Amino acid sequence: MSKLPNISTSIFTVMSKMAAEYNAINLSQGFPNFPVDERLTDIVTKLAKENVHQYTPMSGFPPLLSKITLLIKNSYQRTIQPETELLITAGATQAIFTTITALVKSNDDVIILDPSYDCYEAPVLLCNANPVRVALNDDYTPYWEIIEKACTSKTKMIIINNPHNPTGKILTEPDFEALEILLDKYPDIVLLSDEVYEYITFEEKHISAHTREKLLNRCVMVSSFGKSFHVTGWKIGYLVAPEYLMREIKKVHQFLVFSVNSICQVAISEYLDIVSISEIRKLYQEKRDYFKLLLKDSRFKLMPCEGTYFQVVSYAAISNENDVDFCKRLIMEYGVAAIPISTFYADGKDLKLIRFCFAKDNITLEEAAKRLCAI
Ligand code: PMP
Ligand code: GLN
Repeated sequence: MSKLPNISTSIFTVMSKMAAEYNAINLSQGFPNFPVDERLTDIVTKLAKENVHQYTPMSGFPPLLSKITLLIKNSYQRTIQPETELLITAGATQAIFTTITALVKSNDDVIILDPSYDCYEAPVLLCNANPVRVALNDDYTPYWEIIEKACTSKTKMIIINNPHNPTGKILTEPDFEALEILLDKYPDIVLLSDEVYEYITFEEKHISAHTREKLLNRCVMVSSFGKSFHVTGWKIGYLVAPEYLMREIKKVHQFLVFSVNSICQVAISEYLDIVSISEIRKLYQEKRDYFKLLLKDSRFKLMPCEGTYFQVVSYAAISNENDVDFCKRLIMEYGVAAIPISTFYADGKDLKLIRFCFAKDNITLEEAAKRLCAI
């Protein structure tokens, strides 16, 4: 008998596989196709011959812990204690899985906001806990009154994703104020803040949970170097949590992976000395604007994109098909792969929206746009 009867193969796997089968341009799964910074690959080449191939300490390579502490200080003026509050993880996925399995008990409720990225629900189900899906507003802002109505004494965790995959929406000051008021009423709820796109926001500044004094003692913050340094395949990220939560999280982490890929940890640690992480914002803002421009005369309607490297578009003016069928036809007939937004909803709500990843070189974006404008 399946432990996860309603969970199927991730849409990212399905669409990337189909894109490869049909030799389509893959704007579905979120990963960059341009080269990694040569300074980073040079570091890896140099390190390959050094003595960096054995286990690091369980929490992470100590210099990397120090550099992340400094990064958080520089980005958010927050001082964390690396020994007790920071953990290097095998990507954000493992950080999220580990956090949920360490903190959520059987029959607890975990609030997940719809639409949502796909890796939150399965660990909740494996804990024999209940994912409680609460819809975001039509403009993808959280509807705090409805979220509050969903909170009970059984609620153990609220998961937020800011900037938001797939919609690119970012949370505002009033959002955080409302969240803080809500959490004041429920002292036992832990906040899990997935901020893997923290350095990819455009016109508006990202507000991190790191900057919210009232949340720090109850928040697990998750990030990923895969996004920030164009190395999604390295699967390296981190989480920050107050010591009493981190104690529990580390109990699980030590038996899930024990420690993370050593050479990548050392490489990122050295790279953090020379890279300016804020440059990523400019790069992706240019990509977003260019992709928008290229699609200007298409029949797709572009939705706002405040952050992330995803552009959501409506194809309502083109077809009445459901979004999964439309995405399949887009691959087979037009040679471009996208992600159907219905797969981010628990009830598969079909709004005739699909998501393109614009983290691609300009030639790829131009060719994809040419095909999309021909529809
Ligand atoms: N959270 C969100 C919102 C994501 O989009 C992703 C994937 N890119 C992850 C978590 C997982 O990140 P990682 O690849 O570092 O595991
Ligand atoms: N986060 C990536 C996306 O949203 C996918 C990661 C994965 O394939 N699991 O496209």
